[in-house]
Amino acid sequence: MHAFRDVDYDRYTITKEYDPDVESIRQRDMIKSAAALVKSKKEQLGRDITACVVTFGCQMNSRDSEKISGVLLSCGISLTEDENADIVIYNTCTVRDNANQRVYGRLGNLGVMKKKNPDKKIVLCGCMVQETAVIEKLRESYSFVDMIFGTHNIYKFPELLVRLLQEDKMIVDVWKKTDSIVEDLPTVRKYPFKSGVNIMFGCDNFCSYCIVPYVRGRERSRKSSEILDEVRRLSESGVSEVMLLGQNVNSYGRGLEGEISFPGLLREVEKIDGIRRIRFMTSHPKDLSDELIDVMASSDKICSHLHLPVQSGSDKVLEMMNRKYSRESYLKLVGKLRKAMPDLSITTDIIVGFPGEEEADIDDTVSLVHEAAYDNAFTFIYSKRAGTPASNYPATLSDEQISSGFNKVLAAVQEEARKNVARFAGRTMEVLVEEVNEKDKEYMTGRLSGNVLVHFKGDASLTGSYLKVKLVENKGFYYIGERV
Ligand code: SF4
Repeated sequence: MHAFRDVDYDRYTITKEYDPDVESIRQRDMIKSAAALVKSKKEQLGRDITACVVTFGCQMNSRDSEKISGVLLSCGISLTEDENADIVIYNTCTVRDNANQRVYGRLGNLGVMKKKNPDKKIVLCGCMVQETAVIEKLRESYSFVDMIFGTHNIYKFPELLVRLLQEDKMIVDVWKKTDSIVEDLPTVRKYPFKSGVNIMFGCDNFCSYCIVPYVRGRERSRKSSEILDEVRRLSESGVSEVMLLGQNVNSYGRGLEGEISFPGLLREVEKIDGIRRIRFMTSHPKDLSDELIDVMASSDKICSHLHLPVQSGSDKVLEMMNRKYSRESYLKLVGKLRKAMPDLSITTDIIVGFPGEEEADIDDTVSLVHEAAYDNAFTFIYSKRAGTPASNYPATLSDEQISSGFNKVLAAVQEEARKNVARFAGRTMEVLVEEVNEKDKEYMTGRLSGNVLVHFKGDASLTGSYLKVKLVENKGFYYIGERV
């Protein structure tokens, strides 16, 4: 069993019984109520009401922040990146302990701002507040926080916003779990031409180092009809690239009677006019089917990129991590993918320093990095996460051994990336132009289907367009290109 010993939700749970269809209507009514409150506040102050939404963590959190921002805008609140705003919302991540420390540090600064402006509202949501210990700490040491809500009831944000605008005491609404999904609330997008689309929530895999199943709950898939409607609406509003999001997209549909599988869903998304690129993440290697490989290989729209987290190249460590695949089966899968799609960019996640890992295991990871020939990898040093099984495993390696192992893995990743990304050099390929280059405003930044970034001379008017660019200079993980 994987009980999360630390949690006493009953103290904080307000309600979890609801009908998703009724709730959707109710929350839309709440948006109207919040909008009326905002309007009168604006008249009273003679200025705009502003909100700043700060996102920590993964793509799922980014998508949740878009929903929060969509509700704020619908209520007439202006969005800003300045934390001097009237309302500041931290959408938190708890994957690593130090992520929590960062939030506490920044909250301290917000507390100072609130002393100068007592009307300021401070809100915390996301994975971190799913832990009782965090709520207790916030109550005791950060009592200036105005509202805390969790990951399961984010759909209720309009109602919570009404309360936030009216009440002066701390509001806490965190649920242990939910089985339902409330559809159809407003959302805003960071980019007008691309968007994430949640296809499922939660995770049932219980990797021994990971807190996600405890804070995001059990796996629940959205109905394919709802997903496809959302993609159609996105396409009509100018989106040409969608990223289908879930902790383990390969098990999409499991438990939903009569639902299509993930490859089936991809086939349906592909039929939608106006969608030119389809991405998805994350794929658990144990659930990646031959059918998915076939669909990817035969598709014109599914991007030539697969993020396939391996975490370790050692069978012993994979077993301790509860990953449910072996080094051999993972590499066999990579072989199948490469045979079907020789140009596919494969990227991965790797953890170094897992408790129980020895130097020989890290060497196994290094050799796997070479065998899998990744285009890129995110490499992390293991960070103990309270509440997960691995937090009780005894450490085996010293900090020095972990640091030297990490450097070995990183060097292998960089060597492979440089070598593998070089296969594109000199080719003319299509990029989706995303934004003005951050460092040099005369350059634009675009992305290849294989997810590699390309910087080339151009201006902001190109944003959102698909262009052919010749890849002239390989910089390791990215290219400098020229428009053709
Ligand atoms: S698959 Fe494993 S690592 Fe990914 S969210 Fe689920 S438990 Fe965490």
